[in-house]
Amino acid sequence: MPLAIEVAFVLLTVAMVTDWVGHRERRRGYLALAFGSLTLLVLLAPSLPQAGGYAPLITGAGILLFLLSGWALLMFRDSFMPLGVGTRRFVAVVIVLVAVLAWIVQLPADTQRPHAPLQTFALAAVLTTWALCVGEPIVTMLLASRGRPAVEGARMRALSLGYAGLVAVVLFGTLGGSLVNNDQATLVLDLVALAIVPMLFFSFYPPTWLRRMWSQPEEEELRQGLHSLLTFSPDRVTQAGRALEWSTRLVGGAGAVIIDSDSSILAFRGLTEESSKEVAATATTQIQEGERGSRRRAPSNLVIPLELQEGRGAMVIVPGPFTPLFGDDELIRLRQYASSITASLDRVTLTARIQRLEEAKTEFMNIASHELRGPMTVIKGYLTMLEAGSLGPIAPKAMSVLPLLIGKADEVNSMIEQMLEAARLEEGHFDLHKAEVDLVELTELAIDSMRPMLADRQLEVDVPSTPLPAAVDGDRFQIVVKNLISNAIKYSPEEAPIKIVLDRNGKTARVKVIDKGIGIAAEDQAKLFTRFGRIERESTMHVAGTGLGLWLSREIARMHDGDITCDSVEGKGSTFVFEVPIIA
Ligand code: ADP
Repeated sequence: MPLAIEVAFVLLTVAMVTDWVGHRERRRGYLALAFGSLTLLVLLAPSLPQAGGYAPLITGAGILLFLLSGWALLMFRDSFMPLGVGTRRFVAVVIVLVAVLAWIVQLPADTQRPHAPLQTFALAAVLTTWALCVGEPIVTMLLASRGRPAVEGARMRALSLGYAGLVAVVLFGTLGGSLVNNDQATLVLDLVALAIVPMLFFSFYPPTWLRRMWSQPEEEELRQGLHSLLTFSPDRVTQAGRALEWSTRLVGGAGAVIIDSDSSILAFRGLTEESSKEVAATATTQIQEGERGSRRRAPSNLVIPLELQEGRGAMVIVPGPFTPLFGDDELIRLRQYASSITASLDRVTLTARIQRLEEAKTEFMNIASHELRGPMTVIKGYLTMLEAGSLGPIAPKAMSVLPLLIGKADEVNSMIEQMLEAARLEEGHFDLHKAEVDLVELTELAIDSMRPMLADRQLEVDVPSTPLPAAVDGDRFQIVVKNLISNAIKYSPEEAPIKIVLDRNGKTARVKVIDKGIGIAAEDQAKLFTRFGRIERESTMHVAGTGLGLWLSREIARMHDGDITCDSVEGKGSTFVFEVPIIA
């Protein structure tokens, strides 16, 4: 059994020394030194009884190794949570003094033999010094682990447990063996010691599965974080800041930076502005040299490229003292996360671009409709004058086309009107001028203004004989009714009848415009009330329109606390119902 422990210790030391040689980090060096000296001690111990004359030498060396391991373990803790310079010096002096004392009093090789009082004191001093060197980190780390992000907290608890494990191994495996005389008890102690050894390795070098377990508590929150990343997009800086928070929590970094495609810093966290610039500069060179996410150049910083739409940026995670060493697992997960970050950042860029386009479109609509309105008024005016004969007689043939020209001029005018209204609505200048009016009168006015276009149509109008008072914007109310009638005309053949009904439905008035026209397929109905939403069909290709009419009409209806609904069957016809509250 002791052989098994020896082998386990040797393996552990080999692993740690290899790791140190690979990374050449101070921290790993201390760990290798601690385990190296403990292993030597474990190997030396059994040879003591047969050492004969060399026993004092071996005992002395053992004590030195023992104290050395304590010092190295304290220094390992110091690399995470620095001790003051004074404390470090004091500890070193005490260790040297204790070692000298132990040497002078010549501790007996066999602990069973009776000790002189000074020897007992020296032995107690050695044990106490070691216990303090190892015991202090157990408590400090356990206390410091509270209130930390899950990954870092777990890492600290693991380290604390590692130290406690070491104490246990030393107690059970080496000293225990000499204190207990019963074979069975020794066996049990050895078994316990042997079981602790692999645990030590996990504590000091957490494997992937363990690190993943540590980050588990963050997983659910991470999902929510991702969700918020993908749903809100106030601006890129806020977005990047939010992304950083999650990245560091995911792997337990102390600080992080997101670099934009133009090498500027989008966001930083846990670092000063100065140091974030340094981190960014190193990372930028690293990316330019094409070392994607590699850890070769700056061993501690993790650089994850962000393939943004406007070029390559990066996310850099700076590990803190308690960050578990970044492994492939963290790299993979951060890369996956990075693609979400990229998408969310691009989305903000895109949204801003779309918004700019929208604004440009609105502005264009505004300018175009204003510019068109003037000339169209002149054209319409002269056409009306020509038709009325105020400009002198005209040939009958020319006269016969005038109504058509006037109708077309009206059509263009109503399109211009729609564009103007749409621009007003989008710019937020759409003011309603509500007044108490009779809806019967307004509906009839709207129908009358459409008469020229309805001339060849079979039209049925059904309005109540008594007034229907409501508080509405009269002009806008008429615009909606005219839109619906105009659509009924545009989207039904000449011979199909059109019916307009105004009635009362409880506390609302309804204007129904019913046609027997081409109708709208169920799958197209969702598009009806969208801005610029036109349904592209062979049968309606030749029909002029902006796709703004229904959208605008519904907006107007809703601003009056009413609505517009549509009931339509393809090939059979449509019924549009415009509803507004009335004054009861
Ligand atoms: P447009 O200027 O194109 O008429 P609208 O917003 O008024 O814009 O209408 C949107 C689309 O809805 C039209 O392009 C047309 O395809 C469809 N539509 C509207 N009214 C009717 C109707 N009465 N019958 C069939 N289709 C209609």
